[in-house]
Amino acid sequence: MLTRADLDQLSSYVPGRSKPGFIKLASNEVPYGPLPGVVEAITEAAATSHLYPDLAALTLRDDLARRLGVDPARVTTGCGSVALAEHLAKATCRDGDEILYAWRSFEAYPIIAATGGATSIRVPNTAAHEHDLPAMLAALTERTRLVFVCNPNNPTGTAVRTAELDTFLDGVPENVLVVLDEAYREFVVDPDVPDGLVRYGDRPNVAVLRTLSKAWGLAGMRVGYLVAQPAVADAVRKVTTPFSTSVVAQAAAVAALRAEDEMTRRAALVVAERDRVQAALGKLFDGVPASQANFVWLPLGEQAVAFAAACEEAGVIVRPFPGDGVRISIGTAEENDALLAAVETYLKTELAGPLP
Ligand code: PMP
Repeated sequence: MLTRADLDQLSSYVPGRSKPGFIKLASNEVPYGPLPGVVEAITEAAATSHLYPDLAALTLRDDLARRLGVDPARVTTGCGSVALAEHLAKATCRDGDEILYAWRSFEAYPIIAATGGATSIRVPNTAAHEHDLPAMLAALTERTRLVFVCNPNNPTGTAVRTAELDTFLDGVPENVLVVLDEAYREFVVDPDVPDGLVRYGDRPNVAVLRTLSKAWGLAGMRVGYLVAQPAVADAVRKVTTPFSTSVVAQAAAVAALRAEDEMTRRAALVVAERDRVQAALGKLFDGVPASQANFVWLPLGEQAVAFAAACEEAGVIVRPFPGDGVRISIGTAEENDALLAAVETYLKTELAGPLP
């Protein structure tokens, strides 16, 4: 066998599917297209496609640092925040070291741990689909090097609050790096859900992971960033594949950051729609957790796959997690209406039972 035998056991990352003519509410993308100025910046940058990008992405890093009020030495960018999560594992773990995270959570974490030779320690979410931070604290061992706290959590949309995260971080030893994965930060409205950078940014063993893929509308460009202490950011830069933030990605990101007001306006539209969809689904299903992200989780258990198939029949693609639940990304008002109509049809058919 030419490749590692253990990879046979590893599930591949499952992307939300696209189908021409279908409404896709499966990948947590925002539905409004690129921000103003982005396409122009990409077009202009395309003229320098024959040149390598700035390895250090200095302009972008400076822009991010200024926006966030931190030293640029603390910021590093990557080919999406998922790549940075992988680099963090590479920068912290050797064979047999442990990466701790809640489960269910972002499905890249197990892949990142396994491919990096680390051991995954998964701590089940509470019955309310939230991180169980006390149990996570109890699951730390001498081999734990990295902890992911996904806030808000993908795919359940739940968020950890300030007091519980304070207690958790106070209890984590200083030689364990805690990554606050805040891919959906821009959709958070609950003031009790902390901004990881503002509240914990000065802690030496905390790193904050963010992305331009979601609220900033650049999923296809692949730009994420990490804010950490300079030594951690440096170590991550060392293990990063050179030039992985491309010329066009850097230009697109700089342009998107200039359109912050429009990003904020669009994120507010998503939040309003999220609350509407959540309220509607909450009337139809039990136990729908409150989401702080741009998606809603339906804990349908064994019904998850049938539900997703029924939605697809009605032209809407959602993301099933077999045996567990369904994640529905928030689209435009029209797209969400189509989803809600599909759900009504599903429930009517299901209640009517199978045809004799
Ligand atoms: N973290 C979380 C929690 C996510 O849900 C995602 C995207 N699904 C990412 C990180 C990665 O996003 P990207 O690589 O596009 O920045």
